[in-house]
Amino acid sequence: MKIIMLGAPGAGKGTQAKMIAEKYQIPHVSTGDIFRANIKNGTELGMEAKKYMDQGLLVPDELTVKILLDRVAQADCENGYVLDGFPRTIPQAEVLDEALTKIGEKIDFAINVDVPDENIVRRMSGRRACLKCGATYHIEHIPPKTEGVCDTCGSELVLRDDDKPETVLNRLTVYHNQTQPLIDFYTAKGVLRSVDGTVDMKDVFTAITEILG
Ligand code: ADP
Ligand code: AMP
Repeated sequence: MKIIMLGAPGAGKGTQAKMIAEKYQIPHVSTGDIFRANIKNGTELGMEAKKYMDQGLLVPDELTVKILLDRVAQADCENGYVLDGFPRTIPQAEVLDEALTKIGEKIDFAINVDVPDENIVRRMSGRRACLKCGATYHIEHIPPKTEGVCDTCGSELVLRDDDKPETVLNRLTVYHNQTQPLIDFYTAKGVLRSVDGTVDMKDVFTAITEILG
């Protein structure tokens, strides 16, 4: 099963994608996580991506598309995957579509996690991320067992640089201009399904599993 998660930054795509990956035993592929791992390891790609990420802008399609296509060509993606944070532009979606068509495959579901803008800044300023294992928490809604420490790997939790309120507003503008058109793109392909992302994360997940079966 090949699934795409759509939604504004902070809508809960990553939270749900991790749960989907576990239930359906498919890899969770997050371009944001791949970029953050590269930044942490000081790679050339990481340094290039950081210039854009810190401003709340998208990393250019040329860089992003290659990374994603390489990742989904790996053996563990043979039986499907859940994409989180990709595609974010129409050209990215078109490249993915062409690559899949070439091998006789297609996206099965594009799940749009719907959260209005007014909820987003609060979501993101409360998000705490583990840069080691990729786990995410929320200081009010989904707190870790010990404040500031990752439940999964024990590393320190941080407020991402791009989750500061001034950057979040840029990211929302970028979302509306560049990413939201994908809702029409996947509606036209007949694979778009929307869920209410404002309810408890478990209820969002129930709605998603009803769609995925
Ligand atoms: P995205 O991957 O779409 O950017 P995340 O999954 O990282 O978003 O979620 C953003 C923040 O909101 C995180 O701090 C997360 O713990 C929290 N969150 C996710 N889903 C919910 C929910 N249903 N209700 C409240 N907070 C949530
Ligand atoms: P995320 O972790 O999905 O919120 O992504 C964090 C940041 O990484 C985004 O604000 C972008 O700067 C960059 N990024 C992640 N995925 C993409 C993508 N598909 N296209 C362009 N930039 C991306």
